[in-house]
Amino acid sequence: MSSHPLSDTEETPSGASHPAYGTVREVTPFASVLLCRNPGVMELDGTNTWILRAPGSPTAVVVDPGPAKHGAHRRAVAEAAGDVELVLITHRHHDHVGASKKFRKLTGAPQRAYSDVYSKGAPRLRDREVIHAAGLRITVMHTPGHTADSTSFLVEWEGRRAVLTGDTILGRGTTVLDPADGTLADYFHSLNRLIVDASDAVVLPGHGPDHAELGPIARYYKQHREERLEQIRDALDRLGVTPKEAKPMKVVRAVYADVDKKLWPAARMSVKTQLHYLRSL
Ligand SMILES: [Zn+2]
Repeated sequence: MSSHPLSDTEETPSGASHPAYGTVREVTPFASVLLCRNPGVMELDGTNTWILRAPGSPTAVVVDPGPAKHGAHRRAVAEAAGDVELVLITHRHHDHVGASKKFRKLTGAPQRAYSDVYSKGAPRLRDREVIHAAGLRITVMHTPGHTADSTSFLVEWEGRRAVLTGDTILGRGTTVLDPADGTLADYFHSLNRLIVDASDAVVLPGHGPDHAELGPIARYYKQHREERLEQIRDALDRLGVTPKEAKPMKVVRAVYADVDKKLWPAARMSVKTQLHYLRSL
């Protein structure tokens, strides 16, 4: 919804740069991405499906198989990944998990998410759990805010660190907090946790380009949220209403006047979440 603090990463080892539809793009020696062709307001250029594998490992871990009804993407991921040891899910949104049932049929791999609903053939994830798979050390970080089940994965190999952030941190713009179960209090907490535990890690997001370092982006996200909150407080003052009385769309018109109208439904979701936060203070 606003410009990102960092430019897109330069060419990656595979020679391709984001967006690279139909190409398995290597980002680190142990992480490659296949971008699904499902662009949209919330999906940016489409969903990133990540394939994790230490060099020489016979198996792979796949993170977020992608949306339903994109059979070519599903098959391309399965082919690129080869022997899939485990599927990990960053969160419940359909553009990340929609393909999972058919992907499981394709690979037979167990699937793990923070919720029971999307864990199949293996137990649900636990916060701070360490998984050893595909020659990698993967630490589970529950990072709610975008949704209640949002989870990030810190991947370590030979002293190199990368973090899969799902929709908690995107490669471009800022994320929308889902008013169904996302909260701003959770989100601030999750950003702080990512800054403490993974500031130096490469960012491998659920949408948009990857970035070399998490710290500056996460700090920008915090600043952006704080600025929007301040703008909402000002708008409520001008409208003469409390956070409880405020009509979300009126607040959107006041605060997001500078933003493309096609983003207003998403902005309304964020405003609802922010009004909820202001009510809870
Ligand atoms: Zn999402």
